[in-house]
Amino acid sequence: MTNEVKRFVLLDRDGVLNKAPANRYVTSIDDVVLLDGAAEAVRLFNDDGFGVLIVSNQQCVGKGLLSEDGLTMISEHLATQIRNSSGGKISEFFYCRHLTAVDCDCRKPKPGLILQAQAKYQFDPSTTYLVGDSYKDLEAARFAGCPSILVLSGNDADRYESGEMPPSPPNHVAIDLRDAARYILSASS
Ligand SMILES: [Mg+2]
Ligand SMILES: [Zn+2]
Repeated sequence: MTNEVKRFVLLDRDGVLNKAPANRYVTSIDDVVLLDGAAEAVRLFNDDGFGVLIVSNQQCVGKGLLSEDGLTMISEHLATQIRNSSGGKISEFFYCRHLTAVDCDCRKPKPGLILQAQAKYQFDPSTTYLVGDSYKDLEAARFAGCPSILVLSGNDADRYESGEMPPSPPNHVAIDLRDAARYILSASS
């Protein structure tokens, strides 16, 4: 399957695919609540030949709030919910598990997670969109040379709607992932 896919889209997880809990982390499958239209968007991408890669900061692992097995269970639960809802498929989850204080290369806004995905899947960053709900997602995209879309379905919607502009302006602002998918698919056709 992976070999057939020629194009990719990079998605942040919380606030893009599933609801971002306010001021806490997703630490159990009960915290995984798909956002409206997210599963359908994944299938729309797949139908147009896009592989879907997740790039997500999960400092909760570094903090000891979630085990590696717990993180795997959450990924599998999310992928299963999407598959059962729409038939959409996530190709792979890339996570940064480190504490901010560790100063790793992969915690967004650094581009390391995107670069890991690029090294494995060999996509062209200049034509590979990243969709995120946080300003730091947009910065990571810019550092990696990827176009970006801000979705207003998560953490930084309030900042955007209050008029605070992102330091790395996105190529497009979308209501949610379904809206972003429509934009990417028409821009890439
Ligand atoms: Mg997010
Ligand atoms: Zn990291």
